[in-house]
Amino acid sequence: MSGTAYITHNELTSALERLSKEMDVWIPVETGDKKWGIQFSKYQPGKAPLLERQSTTLPKKVLFPQVETLLRFCYQKDVEDRSRVTIDLKDLEDMAPAMVFGARPCDVRGFLTFDQVFLNGLHKDPYYAQRREKTLFATLVCETPDSACFCSSVGSGPADQAGSDLWIIPIEGGYLIESLNERGEKLLPKMGKEATQDQIESAQRFQEKAANERVGEGDLTRYVRAFEERFSDKAYWRDMVSKCISCGICTYVCPTCYCFTITDEMKELEGERLRSWDSCMFHQYTQEASGHNPRPTKFERYRNRVGHKFSYFPDKYNGMISCCGCGRCIRSCPVSVDIRQIVRQLKEEAGDCVST
Ligand code: SF4
Ligand code: SF4
Repeated sequence: MSGTAYITHNELTSALERLSKEMDVWIPVETGDKKWGIQFSKYQPGKAPLLERQSTTLPKKVLFPQVETLLRFCYQKDVEDRSRVTIDLKDLEDMAPAMVFGARPCDVRGFLTFDQVFLNGLHKDPYYAQRREKTLFATLVCETPDSACFCSSVGSGPADQAGSDLWIIPIEGGYLIESLNERGEKLLPKMGKEATQDQIESAQRFQEKAANERVGEGDLTRYVRAFEERFSDKAYWRDMVSKCISCGICTYVCPTCYCFTITDEMKELEGERLRSWDSCMFHQYTQEASGHNPRPTKFERYRNRVGHKFSYFPDKYNGMISCCGCGRCIRSCPVSVDIRQIVRQLKEEAGDCVST
């Protein structure tokens, strides 16, 4: 193991307190509200993170806020000639450094798909890029998958370190924190005392056990062609999503969904350009100004969702699946649509389809 620190359960909030003096620290906390469950919030003095269960929603908003101001503008009219207008644009504000503490490997892996789109494409998104560069991930090795999780089926797993800077391993009495890179290493002294050999060995055993766990059935990484072959089978898609009510929750809770819309909000001559999360499951998402809609039905929208994650994305980005198997869409769907079943059944004979 590289650099390590040990934090007891009792010392966890004081370690977060120290870190929060230098950066925004986002932790999963219980809201006390059934609807919202466990949410990521900025650390408040004395508030302990809830690490025993997966958060209801994800830390996506830390790098990709649900609503963000892209720029501010102000129209100035020439007092001599009112037909002459200039626009004053205000720059981006610098964001504070941040840490996401206690996310699961699946949540952090979600950002690797964001990176492909917002950093590695033709155009780099300056808003996402700034947050990405200034944010560290201290990720918890996952020991509590539930029946909706399937991270191993999409090439990840409970001990997947991809995208993380620090690794949190539960051991007797507290947590062993391991640095995974130089950025993480620098923060270790603020987190706790160096771990003892016994603690390191205990963490290694825990880590090995998690790495050997298989979460989810089968391999869902090889469905690019099966999706293409099934694309025109309208009966299949209608059957699969007959229950869907197009609520869009599956996209809002998804660590790999990044649809957005841009609007200008104005009061008199001043305004803001806002970017807000949107959902490809909504009818209006693809509605064009002419009234034409290329995906007017829910089966076409859901087909696009499945195709994007399991066919188009891996086809474009060297096999990378745009689903991290977190299972949130399955847990949150009010009518129990299960994306795993729909993908698995892509390879079955057309006559074998059953409703989900
Ligand atoms: S599609 Fe579902 S299981 Fe896959 S990453 Fe999104 S929410 Fe998680
Ligand atoms: S959560 Fe379920 S009902 Fe809502 S849009 Fe997604 S699949 Fe349809």
